[in-house]
Amino acid sequence: VQLYLSLGSNQGDRRQNLQAALSCLNIDLKTPYKAVSSFIETEPWGFESDEKFLNAVALYELNLPENYNPEAEGLMILEICKDIERRLGRTGEPEYDEKGERIYRSRPIDIDILLFGDNRIDCEELTVPHKLMYERDFVMIPLQEITGQAGNDENVIPDLIGDLKKAPSQKVECLIDCRLDRQ
Ligand code: AMP
Repeated sequence: VQLYLSLGSNQGDRRQNLQAALSCLNIDLKTPYKAVSSFIETEPWGFESDEKFLNAVALYELNLPENYNPEAEGLMILEICKDIERRLGRTGEPEYDEKGERIYRSRPIDIDILLFGDNRIDCEELTVPHKLMYERDFVMIPLQEITGQAGNDENVIPDLIGDLKKAPSQKVECLIDCRLDRQ
């Protein structure tokens, strides 16, 4: 089952944070990533900061039994991501303002679940496909890069490809190609 994750860092050694998160994911998901995008530098989304983000998207191919439970499995993956965020120095629960809008802050690492096979998950802790992914160039641009790389076509993830075509024009400031060596 294909799992697409988005990674971002805007504190500390950002490149090292992304690499450390990928190494942890390789271990905790029990398989090395199948593809990883270039690391791109982007403006903070949803808040003001001088500290730009380094973002990437990674694809994992999970070996799951045919009758797996998508929600239970998704929540386990979310727990793995949150645990890695904690281990790499991210503290605290998500915060919201008085209107219930999410408050975003600088962080050493953020890991989001973008897509998990063709599952649709909607529970309190987890929404997949990720609710805001189609609005975020820092997600869609690297995602587009690796869906090509991973050899996907419209038969594999038709909804995704449909939405990619609607992706907004690029606002990403600067592209750094520091792709990791394939493991
Ligand atoms: P964030 O701080 O952006 O990593 O998001 C924090 C919260 O969003 C987590 O505590 C999750 O419960 C929730 N969440 C909902 N959907 C997702 C998703 N697809 N990937 C990651 N977190 C999610």
